[in-house]
Amino acid sequence: MAGKKSFVILCPYCMGEIDETTEFCPHCKQDTRNDAPLEMTREEYAQETRVPCIFCGKPILELATTCPFCGKRQQ
Ligand SMILES: [Zn+2]
Ligand SMILES: [Zn+2]
Repeated sequence: MAGKKSFVILCPYCMGEIDETTEFCPHCKQDTRNDAPLEMTREEYAQETRVPCIFCGKPILELATTCPFCGKRQQ
């Protein structure tokens, strides 16, 4: 390893991986320009707590307010 850190940029709503030029999240389809996206290292991202979506049961980040799989808002 060359010690190069790799960061991931995350949608502020579903915490899905997005590109810094993304306007609409490809996962939850929300406009990501209204909120600052999150940035963390791949390692941090891999270690973030995941919880099952209350609608589809897929593992999503605990921080996510919207499921990146079914697009439903968590309550
Ligand atoms: Zn999203
Ligand atoms: Zn879901």
